[in-house]
Amino acid sequence: METIVKIISTRYVTHNVKQFRLEKPAGFTFTPGQATELSINQDGWKDKKNPFTFTCLTDDPYLEFTIKIYPDSDEGVTNQLSKLAVGDELILRDAWGAIEYKGPGYFIAGGAGITPFIAILRHLNKEGKLAGNKLFFSNKTDEDIILADELKSMLGPDALFLISAQKDSIHDTRRINEVFLKAEVSDFTKHFYICGPDPMVEAINVILTGLGASADSVVFER
Ligand SMILES: Cc1cc2nc3c(=O)[nH]c(=O)nc-3n(C[C@H](O)[C@H](O)[C@H](O)COP(=O)(O)OP(=O)(O)OC[C@H]3O[C@@H](n4cnc5c(N)ncnc54)[C@H](O)[C@@H]3O)c2cc1C
Repeated sequence: METIVKIISTRYVTHNVKQFRLEKPAGFTFTPGQATELSINQDGWKDKKNPFTFTCLTDDPYLEFTIKIYPDSDEGVTNQLSKLAVGDELILRDAWGAIEYKGPGYFIAGGAGITPFIAILRHLNKEGKLAGNKLFFSNKTDEDIILADELKSMLGPDALFLISAQKDSIHDTRRINEVFLKAEVSDFTKHFYICGPDPMVEAINVILTGLGASADSVVFER
């Protein structure tokens, strides 16, 4: 189903990631971790449907999306989204997606791949059920980390930020590879949730399988 919704607020949460809050249609539901296809309700843009993940709580009075903007892409939806203002309209569709919480484990994210985990971790935090979960969040530089303060305040030392392309980073500069996972994962029978660029998801999946994680307990978007 398609519904036209207005933008209620926007704000940059990093130098290139913008949070959009939208009107929430009555009765609209989603499961934390799910996405939808959005398009811009303007001539020439209505049929460009791009997937974005809900980052709000299910009972928030608005819908929230946290979107990395690619400003160099004139034809790109995120560049056009970045130019929209309060009151502009988007076309919202039904929620879908494979990522949902199945039990305590390890959340492994790269860049904007954190978005389904923002929704899940906020939900668990609200329910007081975060214990037993750990986050490994990889980014190129310190300033790329989306909602670093909120993630730290929810997870404390169980939020580990990994920085791959900044030598003077204030964070850990290890790569998420086999050596890292052997050092940081104490229980390979727990759940693993992976979201990020395809090569990262594939590589980590292979490593985890090799280290004894069962395919049933590894959750990622197919
Ligand atoms: C299920 C799902 C949920 C998602 N949720 C979110 C979310 O919550 N937040 C978020 O920020 N993103 C999310 N994404 C990614 C998001 O959909 C895309 O980043 C967005 O659609 C890009 O749109 P665009 O038209 O602006 O970009 P485009 O103009 O298509 O390109 C964006 C950038 O990617 C590069 N690019 C384009 N195609 C390729 C390619 N094939 N290989 C390598 N590089 C390429 C371009 O050069 C450019 O730099 C999600 C994706 C999926 C599948």
